[in-house]
Amino acid sequence: MKIKLLSDTTINRIAAGEVIERPASVVKELVENSIDAGATQVDIILEQAGKNLIIIADNGFGMNAPELEIAVERHTTSKLDEDDLLDINTFGFRGEALPSIGAVSKMFITSRQKNSDKAYQICLIGGKDKQLKPAVHNEGTKIEVRDLFFATPARLKFLRTDKTEFAATLDIIKKIALAHPHIGFSVTHDGKDVLKLKNRTGSLQEALKQRIIDIIGADFAENAAELDLTREGIAIQGYTSLPTFNRATASDQFLFINNRPVKDKIINIALKTAYQDYLARDRYPVSALFLRIDPQTVDVNVHPAKSEVRFHDPNLVRGLLIRAIKDALSTVSHKVSSSYGATALGFFNIEPASKPDIVEEPQQEYKYRPLLNSNFSQGYETRPFVPAARQNDEEVWDSPSQEKAEIAKPIFDSPVDLPMGDAKAQLHSTYILAQTADGVIIVDQHAAHERLVYEKIKASIEKNGLIKQRLLIPEIVELPDEKRAHIIDEQKGRLTDLGLSIDKFGEKSIIVSEIPSLIGDVDVKRLICDLADHLLDLGENIGLTELIEHVTETYACHYSIRAGRELSKIEMNELLRQMENTPFSGQCNHGRPTYVELKLKDIEKLFGRR
Ligand code: ADP
Ligand code: MG
Repeated sequence: MKIKLLSDTTINRIAAGEVIERPASVVKELVENSIDAGATQVDIILEQAGKNLIIIADNGFGMNAPELEIAVERHTTSKLDEDDLLDINTFGFRGEALPSIGAVSKMFITSRQKNSDKAYQICLIGGKDKQLKPAVHNEGTKIEVRDLFFATPARLKFLRTDKTEFAATLDIIKKIALAHPHIGFSVTHDGKDVLKLKNRTGSLQEALKQRIIDIIGADFAENAAELDLTREGIAIQGYTSLPTFNRATASDQFLFINNRPVKDKIINIALKTAYQDYLARDRYPVSALFLRIDPQTVDVNVHPAKSEVRFHDPNLVRGLLIRAIKDALSTVSHKVSSSYGATALGFFNIEPASKPDIVEEPQQEYKYRPLLNSNFSQGYETRPFVPAARQNDEEVWDSPSQEKAEIAKPIFDSPVDLPMGDAKAQLHSTYILAQTADGVIIVDQHAAHERLVYEKIKASIEKNGLIKQRLLIPEIVELPDEKRAHIIDEQKGRLTDLGLSIDKFGEKSIIVSEIPSLIGDVDVKRLICDLADHLLDLGENIGLTELIEHVTETYACHYSIRAGRELSKIEMNELLRQMENTPFSGQCNHGRPTYVELKLKDIEKLFGRR
């Protein structure tokens, strides 16, 4: 057996296997180099998803001739202080990208250093034939990569379709661009302009907001809460969507650590935890989170492509992320995604008005009182309110007593200025119609009340547990099958802590002797049956948090005002006020809204008044 030293070319091709997997990785490395070089504009041109050609041109500080020669050598970098491997503030630091790309493609680097009048080009064909020659070029650097992987056909075979490869590339560019709003980007693919991002000016926060609109969309910016938390040397900023603004996949969850886009489960886990009360398991919030952390406490060196990280204290980081997200959400807690209002308005079927035959009298417009105008005080109901006949389940929810209403009247000076507005009507015994300063709100009374009760029960569980109330006559509940009776019995211990005292009573029956006093007069049979269904859905090994969540949800559903119940105006307003004062009253546990808001300006559009 002969032992031989590998040639540099071979070593570089092996390294390329690690760093350069596909066109997207080439683009990522080169764009990051441009950013490290202080560029404010980066232009990207691709042909055939980059398989044929990748050009990255920047206006950074460029390289002179000796620098060009050395940059394409392995392990050469201008960025790493060898005494301090952990203190990494630039993207590059391994000095691997250029030689690796050069080893598997035909690479041409043309560069002119800032304030120099000479430009040079160096080329590398499959890692060989290195040649340096004078060239003509603007200040900055242009790197052309042709026939990627021509030197390693095995790798070429692994590439996916152009569509898939291009999608991956665009994805990486967008992530990098999101973290660098002050840099302009353009992407051209097969001659078509695909992306043009203006370099955004102003403060970082302002620029970031603009860039988020450019990339994730204006509707996200409109329906997001702002994060801002600094604790234990870790700063967390960014935006996260209102629970009612959610998606079917986790693809729009972006995490940046020291401005580096990373793929790490930590963000998905943190978001899942923070939204767990507000979103169904199969819906995902949209988020762009920026974490600034001492580079010494995070290892970005785990993988050569550097999208994974390792925190020295992952629990701390996860905990802070959850805190920051929850804090942000609590500032917008009763807001609901405006997209619901937009969707609702979209349902109005407006026949494109075949020009009316009447003569238009524009001045007439002013003769009419605007119907929904906050300044329109005469229209506001001032006569004493006579509550509708109460039903006997009135104590079931916190309906205001008569005296309370009397005291409340003067405060109701102008409830129309309150966020949830003034209840004007109940429709179909199910929806509350309220007027706000600049719009109309439609509340789903059952969903909204269910949410209020849910929050109340949850708070009370957290505070001192649920107070139990002994049933006068213990209730025997027969479940549809043994499975259900068994699963209830299995959770008996935990259910006792949640205010339910139960015992198995025969094969399919359960005897209930105590229920939480907070939920009062519910139909115990239905409650237990629903609970059993829920538990069955959850399957085996139910976690405690999950159990509490589901039990609370079931309680809330049974205890809240049903659709179909008539409410008095006082009751409706009381519900609206409670919504204002209850965190996260804007959506149910599954991220569906409990109310929809239509802005006056949009309603005006419906009538062609704007
Ligand atoms: P790294 O980025 O890890 O330092 P690279 O192989 O990506 O390694 O680049 C090697 C060196 O080439 C860099 O350290 C930098 O000095 C120089 N360089 C690469 N791209 C550019 C660019 N676009 N503008 C200026 N200098 C560059
Ligand atoms: Mg680099």
